[in-house]
Amino acid sequence: MLEKIKPCKVMKYFEEISAIPRKPGEEEKIVEYLKQFAIERNLEYYTDNFKNIIIKKEASEGKEKFKPIALQAHTDMICEKIPESKHDFSKDGLELFIQDDFIKAKGTTLGADDGIGVAIILAVLDCEKINAPKLECIFTSEEETTMLGAINLDLSKIESNRIISFDGAKEGKLLVSSAECNEWKGKIDFNIEKADKNGFELIYDNFKGGHSGGNIGDETRGNPIKLAFDVIKKLKNVELSYVEGGSKVNVIPRNIIIKFTSDDKNAEEIIEKEIALQREYYGNEVKIECNKIQKIQKVIDRDSSNRIINFITSFQNGAIKRDKNNNVLQSGNMAKVKTNDANIEIEFSERSNVPEYEREYLKYLDNLIKKYEMKILWNQNLKGVPKREKNVLVDECKKLYKELFNEDLEEIVSQGVVEGGFFVNKKSECEYICIGPNIYDVHSPSERLSINSTIKTWKFIKELLNKM
Ligand SMILES: [Zn+2]
Repeated sequence: MLEKIKPCKVMKYFEEISAIPRKPGEEEKIVEYLKQFAIERNLEYYTDNFKNIIIKKEASEGKEKFKPIALQAHTDMICEKIPESKHDFSKDGLELFIQDDFIKAKGTTLGADDGIGVAIILAVLDCEKINAPKLECIFTSEEETTMLGAINLDLSKIESNRIISFDGAKEGKLLVSSAECNEWKGKIDFNIEKADKNGFELIYDNFKGGHSGGNIGDETRGNPIKLAFDVIKKLKNVELSYVEGGSKVNVIPRNIIIKFTSDDKNAEEIIEKEIALQREYYGNEVKIECNKIQKIQKVIDRDSSNRIINFITSFQNGAIKRDKNNNVLQSGNMAKVKTNDANIEIEFSERSNVPEYEREYLKYLDNLIKKYEMKILWNQNLKGVPKREKNVLVDECKKLYKELFNEDLEEIVSQGVVEGGFFVNKKSECEYICIGPNIYDVHSPSERLSINSTIKTWKFIKELLNKM
């Protein structure tokens, strides 16, 4: 069906790939397909134990002396469907259809993220008209969940010092840097004491939330955990009783409930004043409420209550550093808090595009952890692509884009985590960029791929390889 529309080869492969189930962790079938692709064309290939597959193609005639280049895409896709859909992502192929400029899938995600990347690379490998240096095509697994493929890819077997990834989803934009991300889950132990005091209940709800990488630059979203604790910090002699808010470490929280007592004579007045200011700033869509509660029976001892309050209010949150174009270069996210019988669990993260900012932050955070006697239960470090002073590949791309389309290719610095972070971490001299055609509503059943922007991306990559 798609073979009639341009760019024909890309569309042909996209349709073939879409017929193969590609759930994260179940990449066996797509790996087999890619293996057959290589065998049929007599191309060198190998796989590893992490469901990555690498296909290499020798340089075209006359390009033997040029440095090789790596092209990369992930083979798995997000599996979301509408409630009525009977689609089985482990067994069924997608049902594609065309609507205006878009390719869509019936009732499910389209998997253009990153199936179109795979298709573009296959079309490159199959195109006689491209006069390219040696190509090393890397297809990775489980990008959407664990980054298993990227984390474990053996880059010592890749000669290229330049990697072009096709997971961009925004035509006309060039991702040049992604964040290194640190995530933690910690706990602060406490003793429970009997009480018989009146107190308060702070309720925050319906904040916008969002992704802690993609949305952290938007100050209007607010962080209810931080906001509620900022209010409590203003009161004297607080004993917390119950705290619960947030959902996941990589999500900006949308809600919190805190129950507590305070001996502060002016507590009520202070709370009302503070939350009135917050309501004014965050508007009517959010809920910020304070209720009085009678006879709280159990409280967290005062010293531990203070350590919890001080840790959360001292935590550096939201966009911390930006560049001159207002891109966020560093951020923090106080993500989740939950009291148990004898401790409170706190989840939080930090993201930096500049290694020096990260070092400073970690030093500051380490002090907080020690000072307020937090025990770290779990932590994870996801690698980033630091912003480079000089990137020849970026310069080449920008020049060519202008020549071809008379438009500027916009550089993107992302707070998100991309597979490239793990590549550059293993090979620091490696130049990395990420591009791709426009895909809208990624990760949802409304996902759709723009045909026109696929044509543009294809033209661009063809010319880029020809010029190299
Ligand atoms: Zn993707």
